[in-house]
Amino acid sequence: MSQPRPPLKPLDEALAELLGRAQPLSASESVSTFDADSRVLAEDLRSPLQVPPQDNSAMDGYAVRSGEIVHEGVSLPVSQRIAAGSAPLPLAPGSVARIFTGAPVPPGADAIVMQEDAAAQGQDAVRIMRVPEAGQWIRRSGEDVSKGGLVLARGERLTPAALGLAASIGKATVQVARRPRVALFSTGDELVMPGEVAPQQMKPGAIYNSNRFFLSALLRRLGCEVSDRGIVADQFEATRQALQDASRDSDLILTSGGVSLGEEDHIKPAVQSLGSLDLWQIAIKPGKPFAYGRIGDAHFMGLPGNPVSSFVTFLLLVRPFLLKLQGASRLQPSASRLPAHFNWPRADKRREFLRVCRNAQGGLDLFANQSSGVLTSAVWGDGLVDNLPGQTIAHGDVVNFIAFAELMA
Ligand code: AMP
Ligand code: MG
Repeated sequence: MSQPRPPLKPLDEALAELLGRAQPLSASESVSTFDADSRVLAEDLRSPLQVPPQDNSAMDGYAVRSGEIVHEGVSLPVSQRIAAGSAPLPLAPGSVARIFTGAPVPPGADAIVMQEDAAAQGQDAVRIMRVPEAGQWIRRSGEDVSKGGLVLARGERLTPAALGLAASIGKATVQVARRPRVALFSTGDELVMPGEVAPQQMKPGAIYNSNRFFLSALLRRLGCEVSDRGIVADQFEATRQALQDASRDSDLILTSGGVSLGEEDHIKPAVQSLGSLDLWQIAIKPGKPFAYGRIGDAHFMGLPGNPVSSFVTFLLLVRPFLLKLQGASRLQPSASRLPAHFNWPRADKRREFLRVCRNAQGGLDLFANQSSGVLTSAVWGDGLVDNLPGQTIAHGDVVNFIAFAELMA
């Protein structure tokens, strides 16, 4: 008689358990700010200076004492010319200074008149055609960053804009979490590599290894150092050997396929023979046969073989885990609420992640084939609908949407 099967683990519980086991890597490294995109900051960045350092002009025009221009048409002498990068003299009373965008505002001036509101009278005088307001077109010292202020916090994942901001306070290098070392392999005797076997040479039953490509790319986007171990045969001993080798120098061993209960699925017993399998099977669709364990000092995560299952479980479980290893403070993407422009009449016991695409009407279209083998759905789609267990969806219902742009950043 077969044992009653234990209930599948809900996603939130599984994720909490995984994150609880992800101790942030202790080591960090200094990298050039140029090379720090997507890395996780391992230090607080405080500014040693004001940005901008001085009050400066937001326009090409004239620096003036606004109190001296009480009506339009006033003509004043031009007492100096200030280009960006030059140091001005105090503005002589009764005069204006020719000034250009980014140039420091001379002491005494309190407004900039844009050149469109002035009529030059030769080099030496100008007629001001509009009465200025005190303070206009001046960018204030420190209006972007004030001296001593926290500019970027430890745990922040650096974006291109953040690299620019770090540079604006003088940082040529930044301290970031070291790259997690991830050993990646695919299981499946049916798998062949593009480039090694031509389409017309494929034996019956063979398919190309697609998971290896997107998993490798996703890992690299997350800042990992990927050791790609290729394809491992569907044999217990070969699987065990590959796992053991990978465990010696990896923070995480990531596999795809072979993690179900079939006779050709050797991942689970092989992990159990070398270490512990602490979590297996999650109540999500696609992606039920996800596994987590430990082999020596390495974490192990086994993803299902079906490409969409592999893809979705990576985004939902592996990604936050790898971010936590790097000490990132934000692990989860934000969801938005959008109307479904489709019907989903059959509820499932598991929490479902449907491939959808935002349409021009502000709603979500559903990819027609939600099979876990149809990778086209993940390319056509621009995100996932997170549909709770037992939930049907009718056209117009507002649902939870998670953008791939967030999940793949
Ligand atoms: P498995 O989880 O090993 O039972 O595989 C489930 C399904 O996913 C099977 O149809 C496999 O052929 C397919 N599959 C497994 N690994 C890959 C891979 N790396 N690339 C593409 N399809 C795969
Ligand atoms: Mg298999």
